[in-house]
Amino acid sequence: INDNIALREMPEGLAGEGYFATSLEKVIGMGRQFSMWPVPFATSCCGIEYMATVASNYDIGRFGGERMAHAPHQCDVLMVMGTISKKMAPIIKRVYAQMAEPRWVMAIGACACSGGIFDTYSVLQGIDQIVPVDVYVSGCPPRPEGIIEGFMLIQELNRNESLRRRNSEHYKALLGTYGIE
Ligand code: SF4
Repeated sequence: INDNIALREMPEGLAGEGYFATSLEKVIGMGRQFSMWPVPFATSCCGIEYMATVASNYDIGRFGGERMAHAPHQCDVLMVMGTISKKMAPIIKRVYAQMAEPRWVMAIGACACSGGIFDTYSVLQGIDQIVPVDVYVSGCPPRPEGIIEGFMLIQELNRNESLRRRNSEHYKALLGTYGIE
């Protein structure tokens, strides 16, 4: 992390000459936000924009997200882009269920967010029907800048999340509404 980012992202706390005090969860949040491993689930045109986002011009690695893993249990962020058919829905749900906590979900592009232009019998009308979504990125397709902005919002959620949230009854109830344990 370069000096500017490090200064901007310093957690709130007490600082004095020779010391800095803050809470453990803020330090963990600061570290986690720059080491998120995405699992990309791309099916169609929006996937091409995602490829541009990870390539050198836009370079999502600047935000700590360059380590793609196709093993869900190693990942933190499920990035879904493209038209999702109803036949594919159980697969996304299974990928999400295999991810370890804490985990986040991005719906990227109109199709993943709401079905987009494909209002048909075979297309899922938004992945939030099967998994809880943290950030929606609009566009058909969204530009890489939009995907990066969404990723930065996930970083923000990640940094500010209480370490207790994932054990809370509220969170378990949320997963319960999706039939996920
Ligand atoms: Fe393609 Fe548009 Fe759907 Fe993205 S939102 S997958 S660009 S049709």
